Amino acid sequence: MAQSKYLSNLEPWQDSKAQPYVSIKNFTKTFGGLVAVNNVSLSIYRGELFSLLGRSGCGKTTLLRMLAGFDTPTSGKVFIDGIDMTDTPAYKRPVSMVFQSYALFPHMTVEQNVAFGLIQDRVPKNEIRDRVDAYLELVQMSGYERRKPDQLSGGERQRVALARSLVKQPKLVLLDEPLAALDKKLRERTQLELVNIQEKVGVTFIMVSHDQEEAMTMSSRIGLMNEGRILQVGPPTEIYEYPNSKYVANFLGSVNLFDGIIVEEESDHVVVKSTAMEKNLYVSHSSSVPVGAQISVAIRPEKVMLTDSRPTGEHNWTSGVVKDIVYLGDVSIYHVKLRSGTTIFATVANLVRAAERPIQWEDEVFLYWRPENGIILAI
Ligand code: ATP
Repeated sequence: MAQSKYLSNLEPWQDSKAQPYVSIKNFTKTFGGLVAVNNVSLSIYRGELFSLLGRSGCGKTTLLRMLAGFDTPTSGKVFIDGIDMTDTPAYKRPVSMVFQSYALFPHMTVEQNVAFGLIQDRVPKNEIRDRVDAYLELVQMSGYERRKPDQLSGGERQRVALARSLVKQPKLVLLDEPLAALDKKLRERTQLELVNIQEKVGVTFIMVSHDQEEAMTMSSRIGLMNEGRILQVGPPTEIYEYPNSKYVANFLGSVNLFDGIIVEEESDHVVVKSTAMEKNLYVSHSSSVPVGAQISVAIRPEKVMLTDSRPTGEHNWTSGVVKDIVYLGDVSIYHVKLRSGTTIFATVANLVRAAERPIQWEDEVFLYWRPENGIILAI
């Protein structure tokens, strides 16, 4: 488990005494008849890299723009460091925004772009030079001072945009899909660089992303949005392992979902009957759902194990025929069709070479999983 960067043993969102740095209270934004952001409340703590994640059009950018002060909420309030900023204009907020397009001035050099905001704020010349140098070094762009944006790669432009934002020493940086223009490899590298820079500078980042892998890699916590609402907030592992709805489970990675009925409910487990399965599903944690309730059990493909010998247990296994094997290098995803017609996906690590792989297309196989790996979700 990675060491927490927070001083207290508790993460700040678990600590009832911790004061949020950004506090959004019941933000709503309507455009004509369309509710773009619907009654969103969020607490974000100092030093977090918080991601707003969701499909295109779910309201992420609108929420970010209201935080920056570029849009006014139809209703609701925002507090930054305890101060009500709802009616404070953008230029007076301790906030800096990094746009998808980087919005660098094309006719200015890298140095002039980074210095621009400081010149406007009438910072003394010597200090401007020192700060520009320091922040270009931070984003590893020393030596590029005289270049114009069109002489830079996408990743370099992104780093200059970040330096231009950070040089003003804002307390809060808002990033709207900052890596969207980069190709996959550069994007992955830049994700880590961005996290390193954020940790070094210690400012609070709020980032918009529609890319779940990116949000999972970078964030202290994710707020998953759909249709203007926040569906779940939590650290990446928590919302991946314990999604609170079918939507969240499906959005983050792939998942096997089995609709069924609770047939037994005890303090430490529930048993679920699903028509998709020969055996009942045994989930070893309690649920607040009573016997007879219709629910769905979610099981991640990497938690499903594949074997050619029949398991002995009473629960949590089934059998089927391998209909497809998707080879992804480090893992393969097996598509196994059950007698009920349902297909289960099982991710298997490729520990042996493909030629030695024992289970093949059209093989009859057994699938099983541990009782703690099922998640009960409301339908
Ligand atoms: P994307 O990932 O595509 O940028 P998003 O989640 O950031 O999407 P928003 O840009 O916040 O989504 O838009 C939310 C909804 O509000 C969309 O349906 C969009 O069409 C609508 N919307 C956004 N800005 C305006 C505007 N100025 N006028 C009218 N409708 C708007």
